[in-house]
Order: sequence, then structure tokens, then C-alpha cells
Amino acid sequence: MSPDVCYLSAVRQLEMLDRKEISSRELVLVHLARVKKVDGVVKAFLSIDEESALKSAEKADEIRAKGGGCKKLLGLPVAVKDNICVKGHACTCGSKILEGFRPPYNATVVERLLNSGAVIIGKTNMDEFAMGSSTEHSCFFPTHNPWDPARVPGGSSGGSAAAVAAGEVSLSLGSDTGGSVRQPANYCGVAGFKPTYGLVSRYGLIPFASSLDQIGPMGREVADVALLLSVIAGKDDKDSTSIPAAGDYHKSLDRDVSGLRIGIPKEFIEGLDPEIKNRVDEAAGIFRKKGAVISEVTLPHVEYAMPAYYVIAPAECSSNLARFDGARYGHRAKDASDVLTMFKKTRMEGFGSEVKRRIMIGTYALSSGYFDAYYLKAQKVRTLIRQDFEKAFSECDVILSPTTPITAFRLGEKIDDPLSMYLTDLYTVSVNLAGLPGLVFQGGFVNGMPAGIQLIGKHLDEKTLIQLGHLFQKETGYHLQHPAL
Ligand code: GLN
Repeated sequence: MSPDVCYLSAVRQLEMLDRKEISSRELVLVHLARVKKVDGVVKAFLSIDEESALKSAEKADEIRAKGGGCKKLLGLPVAVKDNICVKGHACTCGSKILEGFRPPYNATVVERLLNSGAVIIGKTNMDEFAMGSSTEHSCFFPTHNPWDPARVPGGSSGGSAAAVAAGEVSLSLGSDTGGSVRQPANYCGVAGFKPTYGLVSRYGLIPFASSLDQIGPMGREVADVALLLSVIAGKDDKDSTSIPAAGDYHKSLDRDVSGLRIGIPKEFIEGLDPEIKNRVDEAAGIFRKKGAVISEVTLPHVEYAMPAYYVIAPAECSSNLARFDGARYGHRAKDASDVLTMFKKTRMEGFGSEVKRRIMIGTYALSSGYFDAYYLKAQKVRTLIRQDFEKAFSECDVILSPTTPITAFRLGEKIDDPLSMYLTDLYTVSVNLAGLPGLVFQGGFVNGMPAGIQLIGKHLDEKTLIQLGHLFQKETGYHLQHPAL
């Protein structure tokens, strides 16, 4: 079977499975061979479970032989970010502190993947506890951008994005707290979706900042991402923040967009690199040609999104990560004279520098005397940002914007300069603060590297974003170009 199969869309691969042009076992083997060929360079995976993947593939083939039922992803290989629990499989979160941890349960999204017949082939690399923008904060090794291995794939879901870009899988799951699905999708030239907060269950996602975290699908085609979203979305009693709203996002992809009002926030365009602005302008031109109405909107408080995010996210992480102390899971420091020393030594040894930095910032922002000045203030700013979006959405249906101020930077370039690394999240964090859906897809190239387009939607309006993204891909075909690995 030709390795080109790896670069077909998930929808096409499923069609081949249905028509018996390929078996699931063959499809999984072809992808595992691709992993063997390219992952020495890309390093997207932290673990691959060949044996269990082949077993699931054979089971999928049996089910299909008996008629298949209505399983949406039957026999399709999928990769999962390593902060999402798969029962019995190592789950490290990119951290030494979870050494040896094997979750005794599946995350709800994993349960839904398995019920839909998907074959999980492995767990992907990430910045430790999803804190970072380059995957360089993985305590194991950095992932490399398939378009230029000297550059970062973005983060924190860098492994999931790179695996899709390199043809190792056609679909993967990431998580997005401040941009971690969209920013790596942008750097790797793939599509990534951050759903409305609450649309996808967080049960079994190891938390970073619970009021911002959402699991999101990644793929080369917007239509594939929509298919995966349909599988994972929906109310879950195990997550009290999950909302009873889900649909078939893969249906009615080809809606007529004429009359749709698209707003471009002037704050996201001012001072933007002209090459990246060209990508946004091209997208606006394509939508205009199809009858959409483009206008400028304003988000006056969005300039405070970064500082607010970098108070709220660390505050929540300092609380969430208190559970890792050596008593319950993973790594435990040896030779500690008493229990407090054991906690301390475990955390000193187990956490990397970025995680320690965030825990310290968050603990400080929550401490008595500083709580009002930092945490409370940041929450007030968050409300203002949400209101900015509400107001903008009274004038438009969708917001169009760049994803990041730059394209993928070189490995090592920003690792010692956290502030400049944080600034790459300039256009993504406000979407999480407001709990809105955001879709990124390949919007062309700037100096040979992919540059993504971001669409931000009204609360629960994932469908419109998908329709526009799908239209853009049909018009441009940028997503059909692949890195020359
Ligand atoms: N890069 C951002 C951070 O470091 C976002 C991370 C994420 O979305 N998980 O916090």
C-alpha cells in the first residue's frame, strides 16, 4: 500500500475502509511504518502502542465485516495528547512527576473515540502540563516542525500537530487553555479547533487551568476536524461544566455564506507583520467574493488579555498541581526523612522550570494581600473581554484574525525568554478567557513556513466556523501541500 495513503483525508480513508479498498489493519500498519520513517526526526510521539493498535484494528475489521453499524471512525488511526487518560497506557503530561503512572480509567473523549471505533496508536509529546508554546518544555525531548525540523512545532499540543502534518495520523486530539491547539496547528500548517467551553468533556484531561481548558480536534482538513468534533462533543455527567449541546458538525459543510458578516478586530491588525496580514487579507477577499460582508470591529480590552491570562492560568494551575506530591501518583523522592521533605523533594525533582515558575506566580497571585490586586483584577478584566466579544458579535457573525504574530521560530530561540514566548499567544488567549469557539486552518505560507487563519465564533456557533474553514480550503488547496520530510 502506498505511503501516500497517509496523506489522504480521514474522510477519504474511512471511505476506503468502507469500500474494502484497504483494511483497518493495513491502514494502521501503513501509518506505523510512516511513524518509523519520520518520527526519528519529528519526535511527535512519546509512546506508541503497536500491539494494542493492531488488536483494535483487527477488531474494527471484524465489526466492519459484520456490517459495521454506525461507528463514525471505525478502524481509523488517531493520536492522543499525553495529558488525556487512556486506561492502562502511560500518561506523562510531558512531566517526570507522572513517571510510571497508568490511568485506571479512560477520559470521556477516549471512551467516545473507542465507541466510535477509532484506533488509538499512541500518545503525543507536549509542553509539561500543557504550559508552553513550543513543546520545548516537554521534560523528555522537544518535537520538531515537519516543515523545518530546526523550528518548533508550537505548543503545547506540538506533538499532536506535528504528527498530523507529518502524515503519521490524519486526526489527533490536543488541548487548548490559551491557544495550545490553534497555535501549533498554525505553525504546522494543519487545522485545529478549540470548542466552546463546556462542549467537550474535560473528564480525564489532566487539568492545567480548569476554567480555560478544552480538548480540541486536529487534522489536515477542516471537514475531518468537524467529524472528530462530532464524535467527542456532548454532555457528560462526569464533568459538571459540560453543556447539553452537540450536533453533527460534519453535516451541511457547504452552506452558502453570502450575507454572513465577518468582523476583523482592529486591535489584531495594528502593527501586524505585513506578510501575515496578507494572509488574513487573502482570506477576507475569498469570503467577500463568496458574498460575505467584511467590516472592522473593535475589542478595546483585548490588550489586557495576556496579562489577565498569565495571572488566571498560573493561579488555577498552582491549585490544580497541588495534587502531585509523591503520595498518590508517579514519581516519589527517595530518602526523605519525613513526609513534608518527601513532598518538597518530589516536587523539586519532578517538575520542570516552567511549571515551577507558574506555580510560584499563581501561589503569589492567590496569596492573602495580593489576591484582590492580581487574581480578582484579572477576573474583572476577563469579564470586560467577554463583553467586548458580545458587543462585537452584535455587529458581526464571525471574527477573522491572525493566529500568531510570527510563524514558527527556531528551537532554542525563546526558551530563555519566557515573556517573548508568552507573547506568541497574543491572539489566542482572549478566546479562552471568553469561552468562545476558535478554528485555525492553514492560510498559506510566509517565508516558506505555514501561517494559519483564525476564526472566532459566537458561543456554540462551531458550525459557521467549520463552513467558512471548509470553503477556504476548497478555494485555496493550501492544506494539500505537505512538508518534504
Ligand atoms: N502557550 C500558553 C501557555 O503557555 C497556552 C498553553 C495552552 O493552551 N495549554 O499557557
